[in-house]
Amino acid sequence: MDFRFTAEQDEWREEVRAIIESLITPELEEEMQNNSDLGPGPAGKAFMRALGEKGLLGIPWEEKHGGLGRPLMDQYIFSEEIGRIGGLYTNSTAVNMVGPTITRVGTDEQQDEWIPKMLSGEVECALGYTEPGAGTDLAGLETRAVEDGDEFVINGQKMFTSAAHFSSHIWLLARTDPDAPKHRGLSVFLVPMDSPGITVRPLWRMDDGRTNEVFFDNVRIPRANQIGEPNRGWYHVAMALDFERVSLGGRYAGLLKRLNALVKYANETTANGAPLSQDPYVRGQFADLGIKLEVVRMFSYRTAWMIDQGQVPNYESSAQKIIATDLIQEIADFGVELLGMHGQLTKDSPHNRLDGELEQAYRSGIFLRFGGGANEVQRDIIARRGLGMPR
Ligand SMILES: Cc1cc2nc3c(=O)[nH]c(=O)nc-3n(C[C@H](O)[C@H](O)[C@H](O)COP(=O)(O)OP(=O)(O)OC[C@H]3O[C@@H](n4cnc5c(N)ncnc54)[C@H](O)[C@@H]3O)c2cc1C
Repeated sequence: MDFRFTAEQDEWREEVRAIIESLITPELEEEMQNNSDLGPGPAGKAFMRALGEKGLLGIPWEEKHGGLGRPLMDQYIFSEEIGRIGGLYTNSTAVNMVGPTITRVGTDEQQDEWIPKMLSGEVECALGYTEPGAGTDLAGLETRAVEDGDEFVINGQKMFTSAAHFSSHIWLLARTDPDAPKHRGLSVFLVPMDSPGITVRPLWRMDDGRTNEVFFDNVRIPRANQIGEPNRGWYHVAMALDFERVSLGGRYAGLLKRLNALVKYANETTANGAPLSQDPYVRGQFADLGIKLEVVRMFSYRTAWMIDQGQVPNYESSAQKIIATDLIQEIADFGVELLGMHGQLTKDSPHNRLDGELEQAYRSGIFLRFGGGANEVQRDIIARRGLGMPR
């Protein structure tokens, strides 16, 4: 086992770092400052298009689909470089979750149709799984898709559909066979968000970000938009969720940036006549967080490696998701504590520290612990599939 990057990987990192830095305009920086899940603004869209033109939205994708055909590890190196900047929007759902699933379960025509559009940034997807009565117990969902000639007609409601307000499509899980056992009567669809009959309403999160509820009222879509095998949607979505957990877990660079900012603060801030960083409690907390952060990095490399070997990480991506998303919250908790009362002041306050970033992180840190599948359920997946325990 060799824990170092190869010379080619180091070169690749330098190359993508230079490209990313060359594409950051003052307008983009301003948009990033005000980023609150409202979707990419004009500068963000231009940034994404420029990445797409350089092939950087499709690093591991086959060249025939417009990708660069490079190993997924190179994608990870790229995401570390993007994460170093922070706040950049990069078409992640289509490219990291839906696309990899389509290349494994979609027909050749579906791959030819959708993958290039995802890699160019033309198609971005919201994930339409959760419903008011179906979250963890997703297979109980009630949204129906009924065949009618060459079309499907969709009726129902989705809940917590993030990014639905700016995505071109929704990757929708709906019931196609109500008589089959509940896991076996579901199919997945790519539904254009501008289809007549779709209504999107905002739901505001505690960190001021936006998610949505989405209503389908006799929405008609071509039969060809049903992806993969009919009534195998549960298994296709399980695969997409494994990819989602991998990408949720790949938060190393952003967390490192935050932790480094806190280290700098602790070194430069004096309390009771000594730098905060000389306090044994503070040092111990930093050491614990630093250890966990390295675990996040190693788990990220493991899942990237598995995908490069043609495997779909399963309990491994659950483990990566738990450690990374718990750590997001732990770093925010500790950061607010370290900053004392100043940690509770918002961006708008002239007395805030570190630009009010920790107060915001504290409010947003919680939601990835259940988004993408609650961490309690991920633990159950590890117990069953990783450790061989019975259901
Ligand atoms: C901000 C936000 C964004 C989201 N974005 C999306 C999105 O884009 N698309 C989408 O489809 N969904 C999205 N979700 C939904 C998210 O995936 C669900 O909230 C999650 O799967 C949990 O479902 P639930 O909210 O119905 O909670 P429930 O299923 O009611 O569970 C509540 C809690 O009970 C516990 N629990 C439940 N079942 C078990 C079990 N079997 N074992 C142990 N503990 C259990 C867990 O602690 C869980 O957190 C989002 C949610 C939020 C809040």
